[in-house]
Amino acid sequence: MAHSCIHWFRKGLRLHDNPALIAALKDCKELYPVFIVDPHLYNKTSVGINRWRFLMGSLKDLDCSLRKLNSRLFVVGGKPEDVFPELFDKWKITKLTYEYDTEPYSLSRDETVTALAKKLNVDVICKISHTLYNIERVIQENNGKTPLTYVRMQAILKSIGPPKRPIPAPSMEDMKDAKTPHSKQDEKQYRLPTLEELGHDTSDLFEEKFPGGEQEALRRLDEHMQRTGWVCAFEKPQTSPNSLSPSTTVLSPYVTFGCLSARTFWWRLTEVYQGKKHSDPPVSLHGQLLWREFFYTASLGIPNFNKMEGNSICTQVDWDTNPEYLAAWREARTGFPFIDAIMTQLRQEGWIHHLARHAVACFLTRGDLYINWEEGQKVFEELLLDGDWALNAGNWQWLSASTFFHQFFRVYSPVAFGKKTDKNGDYIKKYLPLLKKFPAAYIYEPWKAPRSVQEAAGCIVGKDYPRPIVEHEVISKKNIQRMKAAYAKRSAKAPESPSKKQGVKRKQPSVSDMLKKKDKKKK
Ligand code: FAD
Repeated sequence: MAHSCIHWFRKGLRLHDNPALIAALKDCKELYPVFIVDPHLYNKTSVGINRWRFLMGSLKDLDCSLRKLNSRLFVVGGKPEDVFPELFDKWKITKLTYEYDTEPYSLSRDETVTALAKKLNVDVICKISHTLYNIERVIQENNGKTPLTYVRMQAILKSIGPPKRPIPAPSMEDMKDAKTPHSKQDEKQYRLPTLEELGHDTSDLFEEKFPGGEQEALRRLDEHMQRTGWVCAFEKPQTSPNSLSPSTTVLSPYVTFGCLSARTFWWRLTEVYQGKKHSDPPVSLHGQLLWREFFYTASLGIPNFNKMEGNSICTQVDWDTNPEYLAAWREARTGFPFIDAIMTQLRQEGWIHHLARHAVACFLTRGDLYINWEEGQKVFEELLLDGDWALNAGNWQWLSASTFFHQFFRVYSPVAFGKKTDKNGDYIKKYLPLLKKFPAAYIYEPWKAPRSVQEAAGCIVGKDYPRPIVEHEVISKKNIQRMKAAYAKRSAKAPESPSKKQGVKRKQPSVSDMLKKKDKKKK
């Protein structure tokens, strides 16, 4: 029987390596590619304007590519469970295809839609292509336990073998039997809304450095893959948080929205590595994609992964509630130029380097302000183009030393860290032009500059730029003690360490062992 089929784009905003779309084309007489602007995922509180712009750009690009195949994208607003019955009926749909999505909301949404489709005699096909592997299988291969270390993850993946190869985008030939009927009325009804129509004020938007879409993703990938020496030598810790142009690929927004398939990225790297000496995981680019896989797996296996409470692997910390501190951090008003420059870049451009994320996340949580990582997670989710449920939660837990990383006594200095790669403070000058006349000696600590220097720079600390919100040297020591107490409480509560429970073979050093080691090093 020839089907009338909806392919439901959610993430996976691409034609290449899209097995669910290819499945839609099998025995298909009519194809309706649909994107639903679901208010649960896309609303003005949780998604900032830069991410909206990236999404709209990606959908425009997708529509354009579909039109080249004599199809188009139908954009609909509303809850999927309300939208589908109407569309099924209107287009006499008999098949629905989509890409598997492991976020808790997506899993429950897809269960509801699948049940509804079955009731209405619509076949449902769901394919895995957002991750390199079937991550449910990864957990099964680890005896049903979520791997909680990268080393363990690597061992399991080694036993499974390399990720599947990506599949090509559908061709004209693949589409020849599948028509997309659309009327003039449809053009109007299902067109892509503008940002203004969605209620956004676009007057404050900065230059679009990273436009959304599959074409741009593939162009960017090509550009990087041509730099074979750079790709082979890539070691993440050697890249810079504060270079004036990005020192890593900035493919993350494209991977997050699925404009670029992780498997395409993986196999292009494999081709570049072929026959050459190259870096290895965890620091290589392959290694970065494995971090993504690692956090996705943990996020699927651990309930309440984006929360502290009810999250079995997360240390329970008595974080402070301090709306003023949180607002100062979020709005780049901490008085630490390195931190404020990063938060400004985040707000203006929607992307910051991984180590810059380290610096501001440590500062907000265990380092200085002692605010719950969930608050930082929310701000990142709103402002990052690459805001990703699993990666955001996993990395915030890591940086706050709540999960995965336990060396809470290793705190980033908001002054010294940035200096390592940018002595002159050019990055600060770019994002905080107010400080651009400060000499290098004071650019990271303008409050230490004599009054005459501040006057000459045209910026008085305490008047034109804030004084530091905390005294880092004092507060960070106090916070280490608070973290130590939280860890002690955790050890007292759990006679068996979570790592043992989760089937991790390597013995984790105790916190007191780590502190002793650190003291020894100091001596
Ligand atoms: P590259 O170094 O070029 O890496 C290539 C790809 O590997 C990235 O595009 C990304 O898909 C993946 N990757 C790289 N680093 C990581 C990592 N640490 N964890 C998981 N995957 C990784 N990344 C997101 O995509 N979305 C988020 O919401 C997010 N939140 C973060 C929050 C915090 C507090 C921190 C410290 C990190 C977060 N990251 C997040 C991870 C990482 O910082 C970004 O993926 C990376 O900086 C993106 O830049 P890139 O594409 O140039 O990375």
